[in-house]
Amino acid sequence: LVIDDSKSVNLALSSFIEEACHLKVLSGFSLADCEKIIEQHQEDIVLAIVDLNLPDCEEGDAAVYTVKYNIPTIVLTGNYSDEIRDSIYRKKVSDYFLKENANSFELVVQGITRMLKNRQTKVLVCDNTKVYRRTIVDILKRQMFDPIVVDNGIDALKKLKEHPEINIVVTDYNLPLMDGLELTREIRKTYKKDEFGIVVTSDNDGKNIPAKFLKFGANDFVKKPFSQEELTSRINSNLEILDLFQESKDRANKDFMTGMFNRRYFFDEGSAKFVEARHKKEDLCVAMFDIDKFKSINDTYGHDVGDEAIKEVGKILERNLQELNPVISRFGGEEFCVILFGQQKQKALDFFETIRKDFESNTLQVGSVSLKYTISIGVFFPDDTTLEEAVKGADQCLYKAKETGRNKVVSNIG
Ligand code: GH3
Ligand code: MG
Ligand code: MG
Repeated sequence: LVIDDSKSVNLALSSFIEEACHLKVLSGFSLADCEKIIEQHQEDIVLAIVDLNLPDCEEGDAAVYTVKYNIPTIVLTGNYSDEIRDSIYRKKVSDYFLKENANSFELVVQGITRMLKNRQTKVLVCDNTKVYRRTIVDILKRQMFDPIVVDNGIDALKKLKEHPEINIVVTDYNLPLMDGLELTREIRKTYKKDEFGIVVTSDNDGKNIPAKFLKFGANDFVKKPFSQEELTSRINSNLEILDLFQESKDRANKDFMTGMFNRRYFFDEGSAKFVEARHKKEDLCVAMFDIDKFKSINDTYGHDVGDEAIKEVGKILERNLQELNPVISRFGGEEFCVILFGQQKQKALDFFETIRKDFESNTLQVGSVSLKYTISIGVFFPDDTTLEEAVKGADQCLYKAKETGRNKVVSNIG
């Protein structure tokens, strides 16, 4: 929902948001419009961006109205002063932005994007003071986070085990059972600084306490009492840093075209898992997949269709194998390699046979082209071999499959 009485601002911001956030914008120019739109579409409104000053109401009334309907609200203002900012935050809005120039819209869009992302982010809140627990939770909810709340470090660790998707904690220093410092040390035994954020809040910032926390692996320290704006921006900026780390890891480990893990990841992560499984005497199996006569697909229909055929391999492999927790990677060109853990030999071969048939019966539609193609699969069950040797073994089996007619599964156990 975008409410602003300036037609140019309204139009520009709305189209900017539609394009960048892939959201449909409902726009209005007054409080009356705002009321009418909410009456009709309340359930569909994800968030509201409202001008502080509108022609048909007192300053900030539209924000009060949207907040009353539990719609996360961002305020736009043409003027800025400490008083204006304080009065905006008293209305329990999520954030505010200045309308200065076209760049301001970019900041608004960034703010919206962050908030939409926050919907999928569980934040663990650890504080033994009821008032602070409520304050922090309110602030987080305004940012569209999904907070989980505990009042001591032991319970915090328990919640982290139960919810592995949590990737940031906001914790107080002084806590019963296990304090914030001890909690920070415990978390860092499992999670590195580039994958899990720890924001410490404390009214005690004396005697090098913030420095001590940072040394033990906290990402940030916020002195109590804090403003909504301060806590919000610290949490959001820490999450942005975590996102950047993730993006750069993905760039190194994932194949751009298919979004699947690449050969580098296969040998990094795969080796570690392979060695661990060997240690536990788990069944192991490495399989190499290669599209049959792929060159002729490229030659007949062009590279774009060829690319789609490759992407389809990734999809079919994931669809059939995902629940087995495999390592799947695009090895190069139209070749994929998979490691399966803890699957009996015959069961593994059955899975691969199912996949082979899946391709055989599949028709891939790319524009006007209906494409049918098959794949060959080489499967190697290792004894005492390394991952590299197992990959070579699977490659040799694949070669045999190609040599003896293609569209088949060949393994080293006959
Ligand atoms: P075979 O049945 O023996 O596997 O025959 P094939 O034609 O599939 O032979 P080969 O594996 O040698 O062909 C691989 C071809 O894949 C050669 C290369 O031009 C093409 N290729 C490699 N990467 C890509 C890609 O990203 N996109 C497309 N469209 N083609 C690619
Ligand atoms: Mg091929
Ligand atoms: Mg090939």
